Amino acid sequence: MRVGLVDRFGRTHRDLRISLTDKCSLRCTYCMPAEGVPWIPKQSVLTPDEIERVVRVAAAEGIETVRLTGGEPLISPNLIEIVRRLAAIEGPSGPIRVAMTTNGIRLPEFLPGLEEAGLSRLNVSIDTLDPERFLELTRRDRLIDVLAGIEAARRSSLRPLKLNAVVMRGVNEDEVTDLVEFAIEHDAQMRFIEHMPLDIGHTWDRGEMVPREEILAALRSRFHLEPLPARGPAPAEVFSIDGGRSTVGVIASVSAPFCGSCDRLRLTADGQLRNCLFAREELDLRSVLRRGASDEAIRDVFRAGVAAKRAGHGIDTPDFVQPERGMNAIGG
Ligand code: SAM
Ligand code: SF4
Repeated sequence: MRVGLVDRFGRTHRDLRISLTDKCSLRCTYCMPAEGVPWIPKQSVLTPDEIERVVRVAAAEGIETVRLTGGEPLISPNLIEIVRRLAAIEGPSGPIRVAMTTNGIRLPEFLPGLEEAGLSRLNVSIDTLDPERFLELTRRDRLIDVLAGIEAARRSSLRPLKLNAVVMRGVNEDEVTDLVEFAIEHDAQMRFIEHMPLDIGHTWDRGEMVPREEILAALRSRFHLEPLPARGPAPAEVFSIDGGRSTVGVIASVSAPFCGSCDRLRLTADGQLRNCLFAREELDLRSVLRRGASDEAIRDVFRAGVAAKRAGHGIDTPDFVQPERGMNAIGG
């Protein structure tokens, strides 16, 4: 009997990231150009019914966790309804866990409804604690709103709470230890992400990227770090801080890729299934859904996506080509 979504390299896929919208309240330089991008037409965005159907089929195939992302999921008009519907789906090993990655803007307003609807985990992105840098980096003067969102998350029941920062040379690399202290004060795990070539503006430069080793050296200048075992398919390497219960994570997608244990698939807001952040091919699940296809046909799209998955993202290979879509459309 077939068990789960297993690819040619023996990786079992249990995590589906769903982008609810490609639109966003910020314009982070590493993600989107200042003027935005031609947005996905409204009629192409999957409806709550379509998302629920896809996740039901995916859950039967072994998907256990769904992470809602974007663009900015908090600007999706159907967010709470989608969380409620997905959290009610039972897979073979129990109910689907629904997580979300957000920039935190308007989180205080939405958090009670999200908790009540069954959201189980939250990641909030914050790259700097300095308002001027925030404005430069995101092209919006909204640090105060992000801080309010993180404070609301601290007071919520959602744990573990994780905060994400992309580390950039000459921008925020001097803030890594301050960000860790900020995260500890908010009962959260700070996670530092290497800048990846996923911005539509093509600003990425390998030589400019702040790699894992430099991030760790900066952290070790203030903290004693001990690696924690058993990372499994998780992208972050996690370290305990000063022998206590606080932890910090480093996501070194470029300098120390973790493709060998990847368990993730992605669905774009317009219903295209991607088997990798860096994939250049997508499978058109939206057309299959809108043709009135059977659950088996939807399942076959998942199986085909998994069967075609490559061993790794190949950023360091000479023939690497950045995907056409930016991170805002792929869903981080
Ligand atoms: N808007 C939400 C947010 O910012 O958290 C969710 C979507 S965002 C695309 C998801 C994550 O991708 C964020 O943590 C963001 O920092 C990260 N990200 C975006 N572009 C990136 C890039 N070029 N390299 C590394 N991480 C990136
Ligand atoms: Fe928006 Fe998130 Fe992209 Fe920043 S990283 S522009 S918050 S989608």
